[in-house]
This record gives sequence, C-alpha cells and structure tokens, in this order.
Amino acid sequence: MHYDTIIIGIGGMGSAAAWQLAKRGQKVLGLERYDIPHAHGSSHGISRIIRLPYYEDSAYVPLLHRAMELWREAEAASGRELMVTTGSIDASPEDDPLFQGALASARLHDLTHEVLTGTQVNERFPGYNLPAAHRALFQPQGGLIASERAIVAHVEMAQALGATIHAREPATSWEAGPGGEGVTVVTDKAKYRANKLILAAGAWIGQLAPELKNLAVPERQVLAWLQPHRPEWFVPKTFPVFNLAVEEGRYYGLPIYDVPGFKFGRYHHRGETGAPETLRHEPDAQDEALLRQFGERYFPAGSGATMALRACLFTNTPDEHFIIDHHPRHPQIILASPCSGHGYKFCSVIGEILAELATGAATQDIGFLRLGRQGLSGAVERVAF
Ligand SMILES: Cc1cc2nc3c(=O)[nH]c(=O)nc-3n(C[C@H](O)[C@H](O)[C@H](O)COP(=O)(O)OP(=O)(O)OC[C@H]3O[C@@H](n4cnc5c(N)ncnc54)[C@H](O)[C@@H]3O)c2cc1C
Repeated sequence: MHYDTIIIGIGGMGSAAAWQLAKRGQKVLGLERYDIPHAHGSSHGISRIIRLPYYEDSAYVPLLHRAMELWREAEAASGRELMVTTGSIDASPEDDPLFQGALASARLHDLTHEVLTGTQVNERFPGYNLPAAHRALFQPQGGLIASERAIVAHVEMAQALGATIHAREPATSWEAGPGGEGVTVVTDKAKYRANKLILAAGAWIGQLAPELKNLAVPERQVLAWLQPHRPEWFVPKTFPVFNLAVEEGRYYGLPIYDVPGFKFGRYHHRGETGAPETLRHEPDAQDEALLRQFGERYFPAGSGATMALRACLFTNTPDEHFIIDHHPRHPQIILASPCSGHGYKFCSVIGEILAELATGAATQDIGFLRLGRQGLSGAVERVAF
C-alpha cells in the first residue's frame, strides 16, 4: 500500500503522468472515480485540437513543440493513432487578439505560416464560409489528438511498466505528512501511502484542494457534430482545425473523425458554471439551436442533420492559464489540471512536467503556469493556502 507517487484523477493529465512516472521506474498508483475513459469530465468527445501559433500566450509554444514530440512518441510506443495533422486556422477580424496573437506567436517562434483573407480560406478549404474581410493564420502542423484513445494508450503503457490503476475508486480525502514528507490518501476501499501526490482531478480539483475552489471554476460546454452535405470537404485532409472569432463569439472546430459529423463548439457556451455534479449532462434544444446557428452561417456545407451532441466541462482559472505547481503548504503535493478549456493538447507534456516535479528533476520553464504568477495576483492572496 506504499507508493512513490499517487495520482488522483486518471483523465487526460493523470494518465499521461502515470506513463511518465512509470517510465522513470516509479511505483505508481492511479485512482479514478469513474471508468477509464468516461464521459463525465473534460476529455471525452473523441478529439481535441492541437495548434502551434498560440494566441493565448506565446510562452506555450515551447511546451507545444515538446507536446507534439511526446504525442508521436506515445503513438509509436502504443501502436495507436493519437495525432492527425490537418493544419490549423486561427481567424478573426484583423485587429482581434485571436488573429494578432496567433501571428505574433508564429513570428516570435519562427513557425511556418501563411496569412490569408477570409475569401482565400474559403477558396482553399471549401468547407469554410468565413467573412471575406476576416484574417486567418494557416499553420500546417496543427491537427487533432484522439483524446479518449490517448487516455487508454497512456494507461495501458503505464500498466505495462507496472503502474497500478484503479477505476471506480474515488479518493475521498488526503492528508499530508509533516515537514513536506509523505501523504495518505483515503478511498472507500482502502488507505494508501505515498511519497508524492499529484492532484489531476480536473473539474473536481476544488473538492480535493478547497483553496482552489475560486481559482478553478467548472463550466459546462456543449459539442455538436453535424452531418456535412459535402463530407469530402470535412475530412482531415481537406479541413484544418479552427479557432474562429465572429460576432456570435469564439468557436473551435475539427474535421470528421470517428463520428459521422464535423465537430465544433463555442467557448464558454452559455456561461453555466458550478460544481461538476450540478451542471447538466444532457444537451438540450437551446444548446443545439445555438450551435446549429453558427454552423449554418460559417460552415453551411457542413451543417446537415445533427449526428451527436455532448456536454463536457471546462475548469477555468481567473486568467484562463493553467495551474501547474506544488501545493504552497505541502511541497509533496502537486496541483495540476485547471486548464481553462485549452489543456488537452498539452497532456503529453504536462504528464512529463508532473513526473519531473514529482521526482525533483529539472523541468521546463512553467513560471507562467505557477500560482505566483502576476495574472493570479490578488486571486491567490485571497486564498488561505
Ligand atoms: C468541450 C470541450 C472542448 C475542448 N477542446 C479542446 C481542444 O480542442 N484542445 C485542447 O487542447 N483542449 C480542449 N479542451 C480542454 C481539455 O479537454 C481539458 O483541458 C483537458 O481534458 C483536461 O484534462 P484533465 O486531466 O484536467 O481532466 P479530466 O480528463 O476530466 O480528468 C480528471 C479526472 O479526475 C477524476 N477525478 C475527479 N475527482 C476524483 C477523485 N476524488 N478521485 C478519483 N478521480 C477523480 C475525474 O473523474 C476525471 O477522470 C476542451 C474541453 C472541453 C470540455
């Protein structure tokens, strides 16, 4: 019952951390409250976007390069397709931070890219129907990650290296040992001890680390898959993943992949926040209407019959950047995963970073993701860690 590291939450981040720790010869226990994988958290819905010219902050780009290497490594090691290259489009009115941020990021990090008008995007990728004057940054290395399959792959690879993973065993509490030494984790079934604990509980992290409650706020999202009238325009070879700012809001979308429909969603869908258990799981007619309206206007050739709708959870921080850090009072505990709706693409590299933090190894420059960063000042001070 004694482990080097316990991971609470075997979703996107936790499963990647399990593999990385097992690769380092660690004795690992992963605890997951639901199935592996499951559709209650943040990582379901088949696919997620990966894109390099990061308009949110250029500081993510080095992490993205490493994330891509690690996705390819995980593909090779697991024999499963995990990353599909489609190219990425970041499009908005010219002066919008989405296009400007993507352009700045591409220039700063010398990323291959092209700047196109809305009209040029529509000509080259006929599934699109962008406003003519929009500006788009096309970057050829972007694509999608098979998110649920990647969780399975990471878990299988961790298990093959000796990791113990228990599904349907929620952690009910944990207690840190004195002086930064050791931790005890309690479930309904047993009590486990470890040297280190990683809290990768996604939308539930505020329940396990109450100090994070106001810094990591769950929000309901809904995804739609619509049957294209011209399916050949919506496959990975012809349809780059997109982030798009339009007058209705900010949206993202991906080609047909494992569901017979092209997929998209709206950031901060209807602004519904709350504890994960209180957020409605079942999409309704209003969710569908909101998404269909967008699809029919900007992707008319893609917006036939509804094929699927699914609700999913964001976990938002005040500045919408991640929180990856040691617990301020208990250095043997590592906080991961409030990823504000854009974290999946990073799971491979965050898994590596978590393993490095847990083993005391040098890691990447993640100052902009730590609790002490400027973007959280004020918010963190109000929390009694
Ligand atoms: C609709 C939608 C679209 C998105 N699109 C993109 C995208 O295109 N690109 C991108 O990069 N990101 C995207 N994201 C964000 C990304 O999916 C998330 O950042 C990522 O999945 C978070 O992973 P996680 O490991 O933190 O959470 P999860 O995968 O949810 O894992 C947390 C796990 O912890 C478990 N858990 C919780 N409490 C306990 C407990 N007490 N005991 C045991 N287990 C527990 C949960 O059951 C869960 O399995 C999207 C998110 C949503 C919702």
